[in-house]
Order: sequence, then structure tokens, then C-alpha cells
Amino acid sequence: MIPADAPATVAVVALGANLGEREAALRGALDALDVVDGVAVDAVSPVATTRPVGGSDQPDYLNAVALVRTGLAPDELLAVLNRVEAQFGRVRLERWGPRTLDLDLISYGVVQTGTEVVSDDPRLTLPHPRAHERAFVLVPWSQVQPDALLRTPGGAVRLVRELAEAAPDRADLEPADVGPLR
Ligand code: AMP
Repeated sequence: MIPADAPATVAVVALGANLGEREAALRGALDALDVVDGVAVDAVSPVATTRPVGGSDQPDYLNAVALVRTGLAPDELLAVLNRVEAQFGRVRLERWGPRTLDLDLISYGVVQTGTEVVSDDPRLTLPHPRAHERAFVLVPWSQVQPDALLRTPGGAVRLVRELAEAAPDRADLEPADVGPLR
């Protein structure tokens, strides 16, 4: 669905699941996002399987990245993401612990058109402060948008596909045996 009211901008959402019905959680989350007033899921990356970063022994993640169009403000979109996480019974007992569904807002707006939002508010940091070093965000994102750019915390603008190649956890990620989510 799209209108809410404002003209739409593009946002990048990272999805991850490592407990329970992981593929169903990703599909369910995309469907749930797409029916929100003011949000439309435009494109979805292939699914990757990733060994978890940090935390205790946990199952592998399934990760994907969605390009969405939204008329919602960044904080409104984050509230939607949190609601969808809750809807899928997120379990989170420790910071880096397992969760049924994790949705992060990676970027909001577009660097090339000067519509990018930059924020260092801990409740919503944009671009996401760890996205530039996470292969499970960068690889799927570059697959669904090969010319994507990301502003890194130092302020430099980089090609996402180049950051993906250099990501420290690049070797922990491989294509998942999961069909297209869209
Ligand atoms: P996590 O458990 O890693 O999903 O972190 C969730 C917390 O990070 C919440 O308190 C959010 O308010 C905060 N947060 C800050 N920036 C972002 C972002 N870009 N996307 C999602 N959560 C964020």
C-alpha cells in the first residue's frame, strides 16, 4: 500500500531471523509492511544465510534487504518496524541474542538526490551505525540495488557493493536455499 499523505521517499530495511520459522517470518514481515498505510515494498533482495555476530551459540540467520517507498517520517517508519517485530513474537533475552525477527532501518532518503536523513539520535541513528561493516546488510542490499551508496559514520559516501566486499564478516555469509521472497 502507499499513500499516507506525504510524497514518498525511499528507505532501506534489513530483515533478519534466526529462530523458529525463519523464512515464514521474513515473508510475513514483508507482507505486513506492504499493507501499512504509507508504506510499499518495492524490491527485495535474495536471502542470505549468515553465522551470527557475537552472542552465545545461536542458529544461523536468514537475512534479506527490502527497498521500500514511504510517506512516513523516519520515526514513524521505525515504529512500524517495531510493531511488525512484535507481531512476530520477537524473543530477545540478550543484546546480541537470538530473535525471531529483527528489522532495522538502514537508511532513509537517497544520497544522490540530497534527500538522505542523517541522525545521531540513539533511538534512531541514520544511516544505521553498523550497516557499513555488516555483510548481511551490504551483500543483499548491493544485490537488489547494485548502484546503492551509503554514508559511513566518518561521513564518506561509499558504494555498498565495495563495502560488501571488504566487510569483516563477508566469509560468514552465503546464499540461502530459499526461493525469492517477492
Ligand atoms: P536492535 O536490537 O539492534 O534491533 O536495536 C534496537 C534499538 O536500536 C532500538 O532501541 C532502536 O530505537 C535503536 N535504533 C537506533 N537506530 C536504529 C535504526 N537505524 N534501526 C533500528 N533501530 C535503531
